[in-house]
This record gives sequence, structure tokens and C-alpha cells, in this order.
Amino acid sequence: MKYYDKLVFELSRKGRKGYSLPANRFPSSPAIPETLLRAEAPALPEVSEPDVVRHYTNLSQMNFGVDTGFYPLGSCTMKYNPKVNEDVAALPGFSGLHPLMHAGLTKGALKVYQEMDKALAAITGMEAFTFDPCAGAHGELTGLMIMREYHRHRGDTARTKVIVPDSAHGTNPASAAVCGLEVVEVKSLANGRVDVEALKPLLDGTVAGMMMTNPNTLGLFETQIREIAALVHEAGGLMYYDGANMNPLMGVVRPGDMGFDIMHLNLHKTFSTPHGGGGPGAGPVGVAAHLVDCLPDIRVSGFHGNFGVILRAYAYILMLGRDHLKEVGQYSVLGANYIKESLKDLYKLPIEGVCKHEFVFDGLVNDGAHDDVPGATTLDVAKRLLDFGFHAPTIYFPLLFHQAIMVEPTETESKETLDAFIEVMRKIALEAAEDPAILHDAPHSTPVRRPDETLAARTPVLKYKDAQ
Ligand SMILES: *Cc1c(COP(=O)(O)O)cnc(C)c1O
Repeated sequence: MKYYDKLVFELSRKGRKGYSLPANRFPSSPAIPETLLRAEAPALPEVSEPDVVRHYTNLSQMNFGVDTGFYPLGSCTMKYNPKVNEDVAALPGFSGLHPLMHAGLTKGALKVYQEMDKALAAITGMEAFTFDPCAGAHGELTGLMIMREYHRHRGDTARTKVIVPDSAHGTNPASAAVCGLEVVEVKSLANGRVDVEALKPLLDGTVAGMMMTNPNTLGLFETQIREIAALVHEAGGLMYYDGANMNPLMGVVRPGDMGFDIMHLNLHKTFSTPHGGGGPGAGPVGVAAHLVDCLPDIRVSGFHGNFGVILRAYAYILMLGRDHLKEVGQYSVLGANYIKESLKDLYKLPIEGVCKHEFVFDGLVNDGAHDDVPGATTLDVAKRLLDFGFHAPTIYFPLLFHQAIMVEPTETESKETLDAFIEVMRKIALEAAEDPAILHDAPHSTPVRRPDETLAARTPVLKYKDAQ
């Protein structure tokens, strides 16, 4: 342990200070009621300024972020976020706004919303957007509420079911359930695409709509999407597009042209605003022309969503423009296919063929299991990657494969970075084949090694006292 791994509580010395405040020039405030006063001063650590700076800087380095290394997290698109977006969001004219300010003083912000509405409509083929939702799942709920309203307005009250493919992101069935709709699963074929023949018998007058991601969570394009949309429309349902992963499609294909009626985008994935740790995000919802009247009825947040996130996405779109947005899709697809083809001799590739921005392996070809030694699992591979300075891909999702490893490199990485990742993944596969025990104990070099993930989530240790 390094000296500065000690927390500020241990470095505290009575009377030591890292600040000096000017004398109070104001009359004392009205008396605070006795019942609200502390009996004793809080036990705050007393440390010098350098101790505090080192404490927080060291803490920040115990974490992994896209600014510290490659982060190939499938489905969650951890691409690099250009710093100029931060500068734009911090401009005082934007950051100093209050949502209750007089409309005459917020024209600039309103113009940003208008321009974003136009830009996202052009990118997606939708007619108009609401910027209320603060996350992808929040967008799904909003979109499904619009779907429900649409049917209600028409007096079509029997439509209570939403069809969701078995490969769907977990938020899809969850959002439908929260919206009070019944979830009906449709199976995928061995090639990873929705089974259209299995879909047909599900379509009747009780179906409100179908939710899909395209490319789906296996990174595969649903080639029968036009046919699927036509079938759902014929049955009176609407098509909902989960656009959290728009990365491979931007400037190339539009959900509106595929036959979708409602969709959300994750600005905090595709449009390069930072995410992780639960937020902040933005999940604007777009609708086709025939649903525009339903938009104003649905309000799901107080003040038009997370403006700072929308601003970052606006800066990103303006910086790239039409031609370069298209290249985002192309390079993200190229990078994913390059990694897939470079590793498929050592990692099981369950579905061959060209992928979009991400792909899924199903564990190692040779996991090294022998005699009494268990083989290396996907979890072991993911943990071992940390020793080499790479974040783990998404693991054990989607649920279609037992040892799923889902890799999404994104367009922001150089060929050198992709090559370094491939080299390390190959090295790990060879280690597993020879001596899986090295992987069972990984990571060896991180401040925290293998926490019990269930306990870490259910009973997190958040206080210094509890850690003692
Ligand atoms: C991330 C993601 C979501 C959910 O987005 P949140 O902002 O985390 O709520 C939904 N669908 C897909 C496919 C995603 O990748």
C-alpha cells in the first residue's frame, strides 16, 4: 500500500487546515431553532490542501474511464467524448440559465432545442422529438406511453400487448411492464434474427406494438425489418425503435425509413456525452408524422430534460456535420469486424458473417480445463483484461449465449489501439489454454480485485466507518 492510499480520515491531524475564509462581514442570521442545531461539531477530517488534492486525485485513478483507456463495452457505447463539447456546455450563457427564466432571456437555449429537433429528425427519419426523457429507459417508457395514447385516442382499447424479441435489451420488457403493457416474447432464429414465422401468429387485435433494436443486441442487422414492420402495421400495431445504439446507422440508414413509428436515442451513448455511474443522460423520443399530435400530451420531466447533455450532443453533431457523422457508422462497423475476424480462431463465434458496430463471442475455444482444474470463464477473461489496462467488454449479455462476451470498439479508437487489444485478447486466450489459474486470480494489479458483485450492489460500503 502506498502512503497516500490512506484515506483523509487517517491523515487527519487536529487543527490542520487546507483553507482560510475571510472574516464574516454580515450580521448574524436569525437564530436557528435549538432542535435543528448539532450538539457536537461533525467529525470532519482536518487535513492540508495537498492532502486533499492527493486524496481525490488518487481516488480518481482507482477507477477506469474512457479517458484512461480503451473501453469496448458492447451495447453501452463508451466512445471518446471530445473535450470541446465540455467547453460548449460550460459557456456561461448556457450554464447560467435557469429553467424558470423569462422566455425572452432563454432564446438561445430554445434555438438549440429547435436545431437539435431538426438534426435528429434528419438523422432518424422521424418528424419531431421531445427532449424530456433523461435516459434511454426513460425514453422507452415515454415512447410506450405515446403508443398507448395513440390507441386510446382511436378508442382501440383492447391493445395491451407489446412484442419484444428474446435478444432485446432488458430495459425493453421492463419499460413495457412499467407502462402497464403485457410483454410477449418472440424467438430468434439460429442466425440471430427475429423469427418472422414465429411472429406472425402473435399478431392480432390485442397487440399495441413491437419493440426492436436494429442492429439487434448481437450486432446483427435485421434484414427482414421492412417485412416485420409491414406485418405489425397490418395488424394495427406500431413499431418502436430502441435507438440506444444508433452508432452504426448514423448517416447511412434511418429508422423512419425502416418503418418505425416511435423511437428514442441515447445522446449519452451515440452522441458522445459522458455517461456511466448512472447519469446524467438524455433519451429524446422521436415520432413519425402521424403521431406528432400525441407528443405534447406526454410530459415526463420537469424542465425539458438534461439540457447540458443535449448541448454536448448539439456541439458534437455540428462539429462532425453530415459527412463525418456517416463515417462514425462506417468506422465503428469496420473496427468491430476487424477485431472479430482477428480473434475468432481463439474465441467461439456463434454466428458467422458481417456484424455492425459490435459482436458477441461465446467464451474461449480452449478454456484450459483439465483434470481437476476448471477452465477459464468469460468472467476470468474480463478480469484479466484489467491487468493489461483495458476495460472489460460487456459480459454474460445478451442472454442467448452462456459465455457471452460482447465487444464494441467504437469509431474513436485508432488501429494501433485495436491491435493492442487484439494482442492482449490473444495472449489471454493462450494463458487460459496453458494455465487457467492465472485467469482465475485476475486482476492482479487493480486496487480492488474481485469484489462479490452481488454484495457490492446490494449492500455497498459507502461510509468510511463501515469499511473499518
Ligand atoms: C443502454 C441501452 C438502453 C438503456 O439506456 P439507459 O440510458 O441506460 O436507460 C436501452 N437499450 C439498449 C439497446 C441499450 O444499449
